Amino acid sequence: MSDAVDALNRVFGYPEFRGQQREIVEHVIGGGDALVLMPTGGGKSLCYQIPALVRPGTGVVISPLIALMQDQVDALRTAGVRANFLNSTQDYDERRLVEAEFVGGELDLLYVAPEGLGTPAVQRLLDRGTISLFAIDEAHCVAQWGHDFRPDYLALSMLHERWPEVPRIALTATATTATRDEIATRLQLTDARHFTASFDRPNIQYRIVAKNDPKKQLLDLLRTEHPGDAGIVYCLSRASVEKHAEYLSANGIPALPYHAGLDPRTRARNQSRFLREEGLVMVATIAFGMGIDKPDVRFVAHLDLPKSVEGYYQETGRAGRDGLPSTAWLSYGLQDVVQLRKMIDSSEGDLNFRRNANRHLDAMLALCETVSCRRGQLLAYFDQAATAETCGNCDTCLTPPESWDGTVPAQKLLSTVFRLQKERNQKFGAGQSIDILLGKRTDKVSQFRHDELTVFGIGADLREAEWRGVVRQLLAGGYLAVEGEYGTLVLTERSGSVLRGEVTLMMRRETPAQRRSSSRSPG
Ligand code: ADP
Ligand code: ZN
Repeated sequence: MSDAVDALNRVFGYPEFRGQQREIVEHVIGGGDALVLMPTGGGKSLCYQIPALVRPGTGVVISPLIALMQDQVDALRTAGVRANFLNSTQDYDERRLVEAEFVGGELDLLYVAPEGLGTPAVQRLLDRGTISLFAIDEAHCVAQWGHDFRPDYLALSMLHERWPEVPRIALTATATTATRDEIATRLQLTDARHFTASFDRPNIQYRIVAKNDPKKQLLDLLRTEHPGDAGIVYCLSRASVEKHAEYLSANGIPALPYHAGLDPRTRARNQSRFLREEGLVMVATIAFGMGIDKPDVRFVAHLDLPKSVEGYYQETGRAGRDGLPSTAWLSYGLQDVVQLRKMIDSSEGDLNFRRNANRHLDAMLALCETVSCRRGQLLAYFDQAATAETCGNCDTCLTPPESWDGTVPAQKLLSTVFRLQKERNQKFGAGQSIDILLGKRTDKVSQFRHDELTVFGIGADLREAEWRGVVRQLLAGGYLAVEGEYGTLVLTERSGSVLRGEVTLMMRRETPAQRRSSSRSPG
């Protein structure tokens, strides 16, 4: 029996390797570099833990998850692995102890924060011991155009220069081809073997709904489909986190808030309660979740639109690590698009940064508006082919959306924006354009004499919700854009093709909020 299998059986208690684990482990034990792309829950940890046990010396694991290091190390120690960590939460004496263990060759694994590794003190320390390998966890953090860039990761390119003979294994659960290439370049992993697992998570049911009354939609979802289940609800802002945690609690669903504005102790307490107790709902910003290993998270709900498909995939991936049926539910509306574009416009990043952020958002919008299989589209985003045209476990496969020819309404809407801009030199948000099309005589309409425009009332054949759908889909397709602090609508280069009738725009039919039959109360 090989040493690797022996470690797998004896230390971790598993009968066999899963997926590509064996190949990866053998490659790293043999001294090769590796870049591992595996979805959350795929079993990345063993890929470096076992080589660290087999190779002489200490495996140095670089991880941004400082808050989890203690737990990870405790779990390893319980299994008999000699592990410890170095990070900023420790005092001088504690650090001294760990350093002595490392230099004395008493550690199989040493976890370090990336900012630590950048310091000469830690680098000198590492020179004094024997390093068996470097594992760079959450390696996508090095990608500047990715969704989770951490500047400290850039310094990791020096690993190769300073310790050229030590094998390196970079791991991530999220990477498009572009991100993968960037990881390889920045970490100087040019000769590394790439291991890419399937990113499909067949037990997760993907659903994206139009946002009408999000609080109530969420409550319905939890009550009818996930009573008593543990889950995560993601919100964009801290205020929204607080509000929704209170709302759920007030409605009999045990919920805890989590965001970076809470004091560290409350945050740590809420996190550990979520991990240990059953049936708790964590309402959180995306500050929560990376590295959280709770197998029975039954649902991940997004109340606001994520900024990228990578983020969405990673966050929803926290559901159903145990392989049992789970739900990924997202509610999204026009206001999300307006708000996120606004955040991008007003960010401090340069033009390149903003262009990149907009591209990420565009891909997310395309996923929301697709009429074909969500899973297929997600996998395609990660350059992977779906096994079938329909997966049978996403909303578009389960209840195929009706599509309709929205070309004429699109032209009406774009004409309205055009006339406001051209004839009046005015820019307004979606609400005003829709009021004009519906022929509503609101105060604002009268004040600006918008009832005198030729487009006034020409869209009365559609409902307001349908108009919002038209705007959303035009934004998603790049036929319309929002700008500025008030989210005003402006035409784009592509608008002309619609106005001139050169394209046909098939749109998703807006359905009223879907309800499950079980949720209907009698009468
Ligand atoms: P990742 O880091 O990729 O999200 P983990 O390394 O945390 O995934 O592994 C996810 C879960 O799968 C863990 O509970 C782990 O113990 C389990 N696991 C990993 N490899 C195996 C295996 N070969 N056999 C059985 N369980 C495994
Ligand atoms: Zn599908």
